[in-house]
Amino acid sequence: MFKRTLKRKTVCAGYGLHTGEFSRIVIHPGSERDSILFVKKVGNVLRYLPLRSSRVKSTMFATTIGNDDFTVLTVEHLLSALHGFGVDSAIIEVEGDEVPGGDGSASLFADAILDAGIFTLTAKKENILIETPLKVEHNTGYIEYSPASTLVIDGVIDFNHPRILRQHYTYHNSPEHFYSELAKARTFGFLKDYATMQSLGLAKGSSMENTVVLDEKEVMNADGLRFQDEFVRHKVLDMLGDLYTLGSPLKGHITSYKSGHALNHIFVNKIAALMEKKALSHQQALQPALVFTV
Ligand SMILES: [Zn+2]
Repeated sequence: MFKRTLKRKTVCAGYGLHTGEFSRIVIHPGSERDSILFVKKVGNVLRYLPLRSSRVKSTMFATTIGNDDFTVLTVEHLLSALHGFGVDSAIIEVEGDEVPGGDGSASLFADAILDAGIFTLTAKKENILIETPLKVEHNTGYIEYSPASTLVIDGVIDFNHPRILRQHYTYHNSPEHFYSELAKARTFGFLKDYATMQSLGLAKGSSMENTVVLDEKEVMNADGLRFQDEFVRHKVLDMLGDLYTLGSPLKGHITSYKSGHALNHIFVNKIAALMEKKALSHQQALQPALVFTV
């Protein structure tokens, strides 16, 4: 019902999954009027990057946001934690080019948010609700949306790998469900793709400390998996983060098949375009009244 922020600031630090460089973020409490705002000191000047779907610059193996002033890589796990805990007012100070990777899940951010505590503001949440069902497709994947009063994500993945195959997971967005069922699901990668990713300048910080690695047949991490269906849970975690690039929480029932950052972004853009249309028609509807009062 009401906007939520943190009780006090909290710090997350560590190596980035893709750059491999050390970075730090400070999540500061926001005010009634704030949404999610990234801030970075460039030279001696503070630069601002409000979270918007139009600020997504890349969806290749991670979600990168940016404007003319700065870019931030791999924001999805942080955004997923903010979305999961319903935090919609926060100022995120960034030091470095990438959000810290933690253990490849959203645990680093979820624990930091829980440690800082949640503060409920008096301003009402600005939820996004689209009244009509819609569907977007990309390659062999798709996302279907239908209106609902809460956010539910039904995720299905289908990998031609003996340890993954077809997995289905249903997520009902709430802080409790997020923390116990989703936050700990780690990112995963295939050993055969590692060289390609490295040649693209990606995955420089990834290791078995922060990624579930699969060879042709098996999970290579000595401790195995955290959940039997950790793979699909992580895909849902990613989607929850990518949805937050809308800048406000979306309500609805989402069914996704083979989702990834690129497909998530196509869906988010579609929603953003519908919101813009709605805002324009709302403005047009207001026009005669404004003329009348003059
Ligand atoms: Zn991820």
